[in-house]
Amino acid sequence: THFGFQKVAESEKASKVRGVFSSVASSYDVMNDLMSFGLHRLWKAFTVQIAGVRAGDRVLDVAGGTADLSLAFAKKVGPSGQVWLTDINHAMLSRGRDRVVDKGFLLPVAQCDAEKLPFPDNHFDCVTVAFGLRNMTHKDQAIAEMRRVLKPGGRLLVLEFSKVWKPLAPAYDFYSFKLLPMMGEKVARDADSYRYLAESIRMHPDQESLKTLMEEAGLSRVEYFNMTAGVVALHRGYKL
Ligand code: SAM
Repeated sequence: THFGFQKVAESEKASKVRGVFSSVASSYDVMNDLMSFGLHRLWKAFTVQIAGVRAGDRVLDVAGGTADLSLAFAKKVGPSGQVWLTDINHAMLSRGRDRVVDKGFLLPVAQCDAEKLPFPDNHFDCVTVAFGLRNMTHKDQAIAEMRRVLKPGGRLLVLEFSKVWKPLAPAYDFYSFKLLPMMGEKVARDADSYRYLAESIRMHPDQESLKTLMEEAGLSRVEYFNMTAGVVALHRGYKL
């Protein structure tokens, strides 16, 4: 049946995503720097700046992976605040937890699905998800969950690949469909995962569609900031 087919496709996506991140976990940080020419550091720094997080705040990093954002937020909230590092994938989360400890921080860590967050309602001042939403099967449900755990007045930040400025599209396509898998093969011996990366970016909602998704999930004052000609966009919305 149609529903049967949908169920198979959904569970296939979830298991593909699991396979991809288990496979890339060990080379993830090196590849991030290489593939983005180090730009992901600037995109994340801007995210932290826009978040308006203060000392003592509670922050949830969803799909936090190797903990770049969690670490940056831990410095902002200080000892009176709290940052949770969470991810669905054990291999990514272990690397994240090790990095947190290596940098001298002690953060709570939880392995969980963004679509079913194990946190109470109205709990966090800020929820962030960086390069994670496009991997989620039910984006609307994940956004609704992230909104649920926000306190009234809290904000959700979504950093994600987006739709690039049209004149640059041919060069970007060549880069991501041809060069990226080649780099994945050379450096990480894993062309397939990097092919998945390029495909998942193309399938992800563009700037306006994601803004609408966030509004439909009940977030207010939603706006977005394009970075690097729309290669990446940062969306911000409030729970009011
Ligand atoms: N946030 C990190 C960063 O910006 O470097 C990691 C991003 S990595 C590209 C995507 C992460 O999303 C992976 O660690 C993956 O395990 C996680 N992920 C995928 N589906 C998820 C889900 N349903 N719930 C939570 N995390 C998920």
